Amino acid sequence: MNAEIIAVGSELLLGQINNTNARFISNQLTELGISIYHHTVVGDNPQRLKQAIEIAESRADILIFSGGLGPTKDDLTKETIAQHLQVALVQDDVAMDSIQQFFDVRNRVMTNNSKKQALVLEGCTVLPNHHGMAPGMFYQTDKRLYILLPGPPSELEPMFQMEAKPLLASIVSDGGQIVSKVLRFYGIGEAALEVEVEDLLALKNPTVAPLASVGEVMLRITARADNEQHADDLIAPIQQAIIARVGKFMYGVDNDSLASKLVEILVQNDLTIAAAESLTAGKFMAELATIPGVSAALQGGVVVYNEEMKRQQLDISQYLLERYTVVSAECAAAMASQVKKKFVADIGVGLTGAAGPDAHDGSPAGTIWIGIALDDDVYTYKLRLTGQRNKNRLVAVKATQNFIIQLLHERGYSKLKNLL
Ligand code: ATP
Ligand code: MG
Repeated sequence: MNAEIIAVGSELLLGQINNTNARFISNQLTELGISIYHHTVVGDNPQRLKQAIEIAESRADILIFSGGLGPTKDDLTKETIAQHLQVALVQDDVAMDSIQQFFDVRNRVMTNNSKKQALVLEGCTVLPNHHGMAPGMFYQTDKRLYILLPGPPSELEPMFQMEAKPLLASIVSDGGQIVSKVLRFYGIGEAALEVEVEDLLALKNPTVAPLASVGEVMLRITARADNEQHADDLIAPIQQAIIARVGKFMYGVDNDSLASKLVEILVQNDLTIAAAESLTAGKFMAELATIPGVSAALQGGVVVYNEEMKRQQLDISQYLLERYTVVSAECAAAMASQVKKKFVADIGVGLTGAAGPDAHDGSPAGTIWIGIALDDDVYTYKLRLTGQRNKNRLVAVKATQNFIIQLLHERGYSKLKNLL
C-alpha cells in the first residue's frame, strides 16, 4: 500500500506556514510500514484540488487530506471530494452536538456557517475532533481509502494518532502487527553508519531505514508479523547485529534523547551537575530542564557571555584569559571547575567558543571548547564545526551531553546497558 498526502491551503503555497502536517503524517505512516511516494500542496481552489485528487488516485492507494474542513467559504476540501466521488454530504449528529456544545460553553450563539462543519461524507467513519469543531473522515471505496483531517496541527495530530492510525493499522496489517524500534546514535555520521549496515538496508522484513537530524542519526527497524511477540522476535537479531557493529555510538532507543539519557544516568547515580555557559547562553541547562525529574541532578549555573563576567562570576584570572583567550581548552576547563565548586556539584561543565559567523579572539567560527570537571579531573574537548551559528550552538549542547554520557560510562558510572 502506498499513500499520498494532499495538504490544502493557500497559506502553504504563499510561504506563510510550514507544511508540518505532511511531515507529521509521513512519520506516522512510516511507523505503520506504509510507503509515501508523493506530498502534494494545493491552494484553496476546487478545480486545482480536483486535479490533485485525480493525479493522486492514479498513483496512490491511500489519499490523506489536511486542511479545509472549517466553517469558512474557502474551506472546500470535503465539498470537492464529495462532488468528485459523487457522494452526498450528510449531517453527523454527534459532530453537531459537539459544535453546539462548543458555543454553549462560551455563551455564544452558533453562527450559521459553523453548521457546515457537521457535514460528513455519507457512509464514512467519522473521526471525532476532541480539540476543535470539525470532525475528520475515513472513507473507503472498493479501490481506495480517503482520510480527511483538519488543518490545525493541534487538532490533526491527536486525531491521527487516536482515531485514524488504529483504523489504518488494522487495514494494512491484515490483522497482524507492525512493530518498529528506533536505535539512536551520536558521534557517527549518516554516511559512515550506512556503510556499516549497508547489507541490512536491503532486508524486507524487518526493514531497516536510516534517519538523520542535527548531529544525530537513527536506524528504524520495522517488522510485520501475525502478533507483536513475533514482530519483536524478528527485530531482536537485527538489533543485535547492528549493536555488534556500531553499538559504541548508540546512546538510546525509541523516544530517548541525549538529554533524557544524561538525566537518567545522573539521577540513577546520584550525581549533580552545574554549567557555566558562554556561546550556548543557557541552552545546555535549558535542554536538561525539558526532562522531568531533572531537579534531582541539576544544581544550576551561570551564563557568562563576556570576559568580564567570566572573571567576575567565576574568578577566572585575567592572566588566563590574556594568555590563552576565551576560546581555549584552559578557559573551558577553568569554567567547568569553577562552576562545579561554586554550585557544589559533582560535575561542572564549561562551554565556550566562536559560534559564528565571525572568528573570535583568533579562533575561526565554529571552534568550540567544552570542559567537563568530574571528581578532581577536568577533561576538555574541541569541536570544529562548519554550520550556521545556531546549529553550531545546538551541536555544542548535544556533543557536551554525549561527552558526559561517554565519560560516565568509561568511569563505570552509567547504567546504559539496560537499553541493549
Ligand atoms: P479551521 O477550522 O481552523 O479553518 P481547517 O481544517 O479548515 O481548520 P485550514 O483552514 O486549511 O484548516 O487551516 C487552518 C490552520 O491550520 C492554518 O491557518 C494553519 O495555521 C494550520 N495548517 C493548515 N494546514 C497546515 C499544514 N499542512 N501544516 C501545518 N499547519 C497547517
Ligand atoms: Mg479553515
